Amino acid sequence: MGETKQNGDAVDDIGILGVESINQDLFDRQKRLKGWDQEKIRASTVLIVGAGATGNELVKNLVLMGLGKIYLVDYDTVDRSNLNRCVFFKEADVEQKRLKAEIVARNAMEFGRTQIVPIVGKIEDVKEDVYKECDATASCLDNMEARLQLNSFSYYYDIPFVDSGIDGWFGSIFCVVPQVKDCPCIQCSMSSQDLDNMFKKFSCTGQEIAKEDGFTEMKMANIITTTSIIGALQAQQIVKILLGLDQYKKDGTWNENVGPPVYGKELRYDGTKNAFTFIEKTKNPSCWACNIKK
Ligand SMILES: [Zn+2]
Repeated sequence: MGETKQNGDAVDDIGILGVESINQDLFDRQKRLKGWDQEKIRASTVLIVGAGATGNELVKNLVLMGLGKIYLVDYDTVDRSNLNRCVFFKEADVEQKRLKAEIVARNAMEFGRTQIVPIVGKIEDVKEDVYKECDATASCLDNMEARLQLNSFSYYYDIPFVDSGIDGWFGSIFCVVPQVKDCPCIQCSMSSQDLDNMFKKFSCTGQEIAKEDGFTEMKMANIITTTSIIGALQAQQIVKILLGLDQYKKDGTWNENVGPPVYGKELRYDGTKNAFTFIEKTKNPSCWACNIKK
């Protein structure tokens, strides 16, 4: 349609149509990134374990980018203390004791872009067929034991795994890419402190509380800004894997415009210092998790 400029000159019809069609394309701006492949993103499936604060952020980012399918695993219900940092949860979800995985799936699917399949359960409830369908896995978990489980399942099924951790102002990201020779997994560098933590369940509010079974439960500090940063970094690593892994498998190089994901080192964020640092990791030849591949 022709339009008239303020000075009365007719605006070129082709130019106007071009701008309109560009603005009608949902993914136009990200498709302008060199190395981007929207069809690849649309055709990909990601398994996310944990539908809490980081899970909310990760799902939001992947849905906005137009990922095809998500399996979302969580057995928990929404608590009032989740509402300061979970974009998909509402007060009514607390009152109705609704399940996190189902609420995130329902609300995120309203964007009409991504199929989200909630799995109400734990990692061990995820069937083999789900792993075989996935192009990447991600943990948004608050306990080390479950993260190690997902780490070893992902390695076993040859699926890149993106781990995240959050503690107040601090956060971390670590990718395990089984297709990369000698890529360390998260268990390779387990410290004795990590092993101790395995027997505590970290669950996000700041103090140790006694549980019915006699164990204590550690509640961690958490704010949405750290969660957003880490959830975004995690989504970014997943996208880099989706856009780059096929090429890597062919010739050992990553998509030059997208760059490699963070593997072989952990990316740490310190919000008190406004700083990102890398911690180098090496493969442990006697790590059972990444040396028992089928
Ligand atoms: Zn390992």
